[in-house]
Amino acid sequence: MVDSLSFEYSNTSDSLILSNIVNFQLIIIDPNVNKDIYLMDSSCLICKNKFILARHKYRCKFCWHGVCAKCSKQKTYHPTYECAKRICDECFKAYIYKLSNASIENEVSRSKKVIEELHYYIKNTTETVCRDSKTTGILKEKYEAIDNEIKNIEMRSKLRESADEKTKENSRISKEIGIIEIENNFRRRKTRMAEDRVIWVRKLDDKLGEAIKDRILLSKEARMLESKLKNYNEKRKQIDGMHDTLFKLREHKKSLYRQLAPLNKEAHNESCLECIIQ
Ligand SMILES: [Zn+2]
Ligand SMILES: [Zn+2]
Repeated sequence: MVDSLSFEYSNTSDSLILSNIVNFQLIIIDPNVNKDIYLMDSSCLICKNKFILARHKYRCKFCWHGVCAKCSKQKTYHPTYECAKRICDECFKAYIYKLSNASIENEVSRSKKVIEELHYYIKNTTETVCRDSKTTGILKEKYEAIDNEIKNIEMRSKLRESADEKTKENSRISKEIGIIEIENNFRRRKTRMAEDRVIWVRKLDDKLGEAIKDRILLSKEARMLESKLKNYNEKRKQIDGMHDTLFKLREHKKSLYRQLAPLNKEAHNESCLECIIQ
């Protein structure tokens, strides 16, 4: 069968070349064709005009009859020559007719196939629909059962939600209690710290009292020491005076000794025998 019937026409000087024909089996060449039949043709096979000098006789390479140029403007693929050859309008018409017939047949067979496929599809779909409708019944029952189950679950979940809410509320309250306990502990710790501070301040007060007492005692002692120092200074002054007197007496003693020394020498010289002998 013909798969695709695409053909191109390309204009040459005076003829159209039909090319790119996929199935050239359509071009049926008679193997016993008389290739010399054109010799008997004195006039064009198609227009019946006589061949004269101005009207040249051409051979159609398909039916081998003599034709004029006007009646053989086409060239088409020739399976024997494997190239484009002159074709008369009659042969070309027959060829085109076959071609269009083949095209139509092809189209019809394709449509038939499509129809068959559609039938098959419809059959399958019908079967599926039947099956599905059965399944739908079963599914409906299942769906209802599932729906009931969902309702039950919803009921249970609602109950659980309310229980959950209570649990949440309880946990919230216990959290708050925890926070309050923490705050209380903090306050207690602060109170203890304040109490410790008060005790410490009291101790400091006691120490301060003792220090004040010590200070009073010390100032008393200082006053006593001051009076003692005064007495001592007076005594010192007296001692200093005595020292001066002593010094003067010593000086006087020294001068007395100095006066006494020559007198002593004289006295010695007079009394000492050794000194006298000398
Ligand atoms: Zn003709
Ligand atoms: Zn022909």
